[in-house]
Amino acid sequence: MVIRESQCSFLKMFCPVPQDESISSCTLQNPSFQAVQLTSRRWLNLQEYQSKKLMSDNGVRVQRFFVADTANEALEAAKRLNAKEIVLKAQILAGGRGKGVFNSGLKGGVHLTKDPNIVGQLAKQMIGYNLATKQTPKEGVKVNKVMVAEALDISRETYLAILMDRSCNGPVLVGSPQGGVDIEEVAASNPELIFKEQIDIFEGIKDSQAHRMAENLGFVGPLKSQAADQITKLYNLFLKVDATQVEVNPFGETPEGQVVCFDAKINFDDNAEFRQKDIFAMDDKSENEPIENEAAKYDLKYIGLDGNIACFVNGAGLAMATCDIIFLNGGKPANFLDLGGGVKEAQVYQAFKLLTADPKVEAILVNIFGGIVNCAIIANGITKACRELELKVPLVVRLEGTNVQEAQKILNNSGLPITSAVDLEDAAKKAVASVAKK
Ligand code: GDP
Ligand code: MN
Repeated sequence: MVIRESQCSFLKMFCPVPQDESISSCTLQNPSFQAVQLTSRRWLNLQEYQSKKLMSDNGVRVQRFFVADTANEALEAAKRLNAKEIVLKAQILAGGRGKGVFNSGLKGGVHLTKDPNIVGQLAKQMIGYNLATKQTPKEGVKVNKVMVAEALDISRETYLAILMDRSCNGPVLVGSPQGGVDIEEVAASNPELIFKEQIDIFEGIKDSQAHRMAENLGFVGPLKSQAADQITKLYNLFLKVDATQVEVNPFGETPEGQVVCFDAKINFDDNAEFRQKDIFAMDDKSENEPIENEAAKYDLKYIGLDGNIACFVNGAGLAMATCDIIFLNGGKPANFLDLGGGVKEAQVYQAFKLLTADPKVEAILVNIFGGIVNCAIIANGITKACRELELKVPLVVRLEGTNVQEAQKILNNSGLPITSAVDLEDAAKKAVASVAKK
């Protein structure tokens, strides 16, 4: 999970119903939170080089490229490409790299050069450094890999995307003859330059649709049918890999008369993991917070925030409500951890371990509603975790629902300094008070 501005606000305009209703994409409504949008990694997102490999395997035209982990490898790759010009691109999941800045001081996550030696020098200032773009957190995202590709001259940059659109109940092509730039800006200033083509998923993309889009994108003469062919291949790839979004910006043309995908962003439907094993195996989680990966191992969802009260909850709605009520009572959540349904005692223990690993945490609020969850399991997990982890911070527990009497007994008889709360309001007040006392 990476907390960043919406990565596809433009595309979301075509999807009036939120595409992602999972816990992590909620914009918290509290005033102190307004600027923070939590964007989930619910949909697998691959690096550009991985997406381009899929594209080229499926007949879509991309530039020749190599991938490098070190500056030396990048230099070797640049020599091996033996190209007139080379483009070096930092590989991070966020867009806007071209205009990004590294904490090494280097400006721009995309560089063109004719000299392979320069590729080595530039790569040295990219790999291992953070690249900050409009779409990353302020501190940027660490670059572990660079793509070294044959640069091609671009005579025109257009925009093309294919996405699952709820309002259309299926796939839609979105394109603009004004690509390369921020598509959000085009949509705002020249909405007439955004073209849509709804596709019937059962019939597939029609030739006439691909040609109409190619024409709307401004491709003329033989380039028109070439672009239509590329659009058709991109659509077929979209379907084949269970993508939720394929975005190519720029979808460009060269002076030599070739239509080329210069950039690539593909998101995949996580529900299709069972039949897209090869693709999901490519997921490198290096851009996740380590704690999120650790939480995911135990089927827990962790979201880091910047206050001092850890929240241990089950369900997205309860998580939001818990954060809100902490705010209302003058506190600030440090994080929240969502336990989900069918809980095991060991998960509760792991959850506590994760929550307390954050040094910002000065109190823990447990707010569990036992519907599917059995409160006694939670209570046993809590007491075990408190003992084994030698919990040092105040713990306020509000349990309600299935088997809650048994759970209360377990907590009361534990001899541990656990503060019980009768309801959510009471729990929030007690948690905030326990922090304020310090
Ligand atoms: P983004 O900034 O993260 O979207 O990265 P892109 O891959 O889209 O690259 C940014 C910009 O660099 C593009 O919009 C192009 O204008 C330019 N660019 C990328 N590859 C090439 C290339 O091979 N040749 C030329 N001439 N420009 C390129
Ligand atoms: Mn781009």
